Amino acid sequence: MADIIHLLPDSVANQIAAGEVVQRPASVVKELVENAIDAKATEITLSIIDAGRTAIQITDNGVGMSETDARMAFERHATSKIKDAADIFTIRTMGFRGEALASIAAVSQTELKTRKKENELGTKIVIAGSKIESQEPESCPVGTTFTVKNLFFNTPARRKFLKANKTEFTYILAEIHQTALANPHICFTILKDGDLYAKYPSGTLKQRIINIFGKQMDKGLLAIEDESSIVKIHGFIGVPELAKKTGSNQYFFVNDRFFRQKSFLGSIMRAYGNLVPQKEYPPFFVFLEIDPGEIDVNIHPTKTEIKFSEEFNICQLLEATVKYTLGKSNIVPTLDFSDPEDYSDMFKPSNTIVTSPPKIAINPSYNPFKTNNGPAYNNAPSNARNWEKLFEDYQAKKSSSTEQTIDFGEFTEISNNEEPELCIQSCTQVQRKYIVAIVDDKIYIIDIKRAHYRLIYNTFEETITSSQKLPSQKTLLPIRIEVTPQEAETLQEALPQMNQLGIDIEEFGKQTFVINGTPSNIPIETLQDTIVDFASSITNSGKNFKDSWQEHIVRTMAKSASLYRNPEMSKDEMQRFVSKLLQSKSYTITPEGQLITVIVEMNDLLKKFN
Ligand code: ADP
Ligand code: MG
Repeated sequence: MADIIHLLPDSVANQIAAGEVVQRPASVVKELVENAIDAKATEITLSIIDAGRTAIQITDNGVGMSETDARMAFERHATSKIKDAADIFTIRTMGFRGEALASIAAVSQTELKTRKKENELGTKIVIAGSKIESQEPESCPVGTTFTVKNLFFNTPARRKFLKANKTEFTYILAEIHQTALANPHICFTILKDGDLYAKYPSGTLKQRIINIFGKQMDKGLLAIEDESSIVKIHGFIGVPELAKKTGSNQYFFVNDRFFRQKSFLGSIMRAYGNLVPQKEYPPFFVFLEIDPGEIDVNIHPTKTEIKFSEEFNICQLLEATVKYTLGKSNIVPTLDFSDPEDYSDMFKPSNTIVTSPPKIAINPSYNPFKTNNGPAYNNAPSNARNWEKLFEDYQAKKSSSTEQTIDFGEFTEISNNEEPELCIQSCTQVQRKYIVAIVDDKIYIIDIKRAHYRLIYNTFEETITSSQKLPSQKTLLPIRIEVTPQEAETLQEALPQMNQLGIDIEEFGKQTFVINGTPSNIPIETLQDTIVDFASSITNSGKNFKDSWQEHIVRTMAKSASLYRNPEMSKDEMQRFVSKLLQSKSYTITPEGQLITVIVEMNDLLKKFN
């Protein structure tokens, strides 16, 4: 029997392979725009005829190609971007597989004109269904123009598969927007059927976002920024008001490459929590900068999922950063009175506003430690290794305890004999847990415990960043703490900050530390456990916490200082407390993003009862 296996001709192999890369006109746009960016273009013009069915033309002012390179570029696996496999792990360009041009040329009639700066004449190549029809010198500007005509002319089944022009054009725009957002320094001009459709001049990321998505974005973008050893995060998130019914304005980029990632999306949506109604999606433009070796860029060109070796940690960082940004901007839920069901549960907000804090001078002499009696806890769990758990245990213990004295000295001392600085018209305590206060034309409903935590956190944070020092009280007997060698290292590093917070702690031999004094509002037993837990949590979380341990120590210490049973407060105490809170940073949200304050606008009430 005769042998039956033979090699497919290149043109057929290319056509089959092209199915993977070129699925629709938008794929051609994506590949050609990416090539222009890799060629360092600063101006890219796209002309789309018939949603790309008839023609797609892309002109760039990049480096152009030599005569030989122009010919080579259409060969499968022809690339100038990597030389060997190892390069894949350091790749910063958009393409590197050398498949795009071969694929596009296999299923269209393509024309290339290109010139390098150093050449007087450029080159023109015409190629159809992988077959070179002509190559000749051509006078053309520096840079490259690809014209892709009659896509899928030789694969009618694929051509039939295309959707309506409107849909295909939407796909094209989506590709352009992804690339345009990642490259705000590049000017993009889009022509549709011969007319100017859009022009995005070069500028900042914010300008680009506004250019693409409209002026309403202008006031609603919050810059995000975070840097750690695993990832640098920057970009913008939208205020909840900008949320839409589709997630079409949600963008992730890693090293300026667009990608999708369910887990990251989940982190961001968790950070917004109930600030946005269910099934609504706030816009975001989140850029991650990461060592290319830590991501799998060897993904298929049409796929947008990327594998991250530090996925879990990046999730945590993203959630924290977004929460922090929202909190910093005092974005808080208000009650939605449009839904009559809704005000049955005051703490389930479903609409949001951006509020600015009342403009009142902050009392800089406020010192939460000017008090004498901290709450006394005598039975702190001695071996709780996890401070979160420790905190919860304490909460549980305290709420069941009846003998503790609650000290509100720190709040009553805020302004000494002065009147509260805000005009608080009325204050009531509800179930000991909340304060309902009327200030100006707003009703504030405040969770007392969380507010207390926020106040102490802010003071600690300020202390650390301004390198002040809070006073400490001598303990009767010094308290020893034994830790592992790694934990000892962590503690050594954190000693100056702990001292600043009023913790008089020093090293005493190799793995032993001694506490001689505590801040007045942290009981020694609590402090001992808090420090041990802090050391172990930082140490065990490895390098990921190394960058945020200052923040972590502030949180940990603030949590242990703000442990107390819900107090009964006098009118005076409430007024000072509310006044203090409303003048402080991020008074609407805890450092972990939990809601502290619900605000009801009086106007909304009036409307409701109209
Ligand atoms: P890849 O981008 O993966 O390298 P392509 O098939 O997209 O593969 O392109 C092949 C090569 O052609 C590129 O590596 C590059 O050297 C060259 N090239 C493609 N487009 C351009 C352009 N617009 N300007 C300059 N060179 C280009
Ligand atoms: Mg390419």
